[in-house]
Amino acid sequence: MSQEQSAINFNMGELRHNWTHDEVKALFDLPFNDLMFYAQSVHRQHFNPNEVQVSTLLSIKTGACPEDCKYCSQSARYKTDIEKEKLMEVEKVLEAAKQAKAQGSTRFCMGAAWRNPKERDMPYVVEMVKGVKALGMETCMTLGMLSADQATELSEAGLDYYNHNLDTSKEHYNQIITTRSFQDRLDTLDNVRSAGMKVCSGGIVGLGEKATDRASLLAQLANLSPQPESVPINMLVKIDGTPLADVADLDNFDFIRCIAVARIMMPNSHVRLSAGRDAMNEQMQSMCFLAGANSIFYGCKLLTANNPETNADVMLFKKLGINTETIANNLDEEIEEQVLHAKVAEQQSSDLFYDATK
Ligand code: SF4
Repeated sequence: MSQEQSAINFNMGELRHNWTHDEVKALFDLPFNDLMFYAQSVHRQHFNPNEVQVSTLLSIKTGACPEDCKYCSQSARYKTDIEKEKLMEVEKVLEAAKQAKAQGSTRFCMGAAWRNPKERDMPYVVEMVKGVKALGMETCMTLGMLSADQATELSEAGLDYYNHNLDTSKEHYNQIITTRSFQDRLDTLDNVRSAGMKVCSGGIVGLGEKATDRASLLAQLANLSPQPESVPINMLVKIDGTPLADVADLDNFDFIRCIAVARIMMPNSHVRLSAGRDAMNEQMQSMCFLAGANSIFYGCKLLTANNPETNADVMLFKKLGINTETIANNLDEEIEEQVLHAKVAEQQSSDLFYDATK
């Protein structure tokens, strides 16, 4: 047994919310083949290894954002090539959702470059959620910070997921964003949870952070209870005009390690291979799937960064024998879980049942 392996004295695939920095570091420090083996083993305990969930992301309001996220083309503070656009009309959003559904997407994500939605915007975004939901798709939005009331309003409209990334570690955070705090982000995630929505939250790597920051980010996400259902791991897309345009490249293996460690620490979550996929060749993407990534964005535009053409994804899935996950599969799993819980409850109420936990 190697020195790194001996530092790992927990059960792989166990759902935990008490990860220590040393434990996460020990995972990152594993020999690559061992890490991939563990990640794939955990993945197979919880998911069909040959299925990937597919979402489409549409920018419903582009550019002119008052925030200063140093990686972002949409911040009004940086001179980038982005074309500013006002909030899209509801009908146009629904048209795009129909197209996404026809291409095999099960989830439609709508993103707006806002610090937070204004009260005047809420009726429109609520209509968008209702319309996409009526198409039989899962709905997701990313609109910036949310108050408790706004989260409730969106949840009541039928919003399934809310995306709000932590972006980076708490320690590195102030190097990247100064206009909202790390705690602001955690508060929004709390509001989303309390309103009954599922959480989509991950981060960006390649921001010039240290390896310890990547470990800290994943520990922060995994120690949320419950863990986010969806965890996007983004590779920085360097945008001319932003402060991070010339930051040093992150080694591809470090990125794959991030996916694998996220998979081990958040065994029930969909780990999403998100921004940066455009620059990855097929082999790199395949390694990410092997490491446990099981969700992607489909389609030609990932907010404002390029995303591989849908056809390229279809070809790659065919080569790898990967199928797209359907909503029905998720529902089946949920129903099975409910039946199982009902059976356990039935047994527990029976006189014959011996409760070994007491
Ligand atoms: S990442 Fe979001 S909040 Fe930050 S500048 Fe870009 S659009 Fe605004």
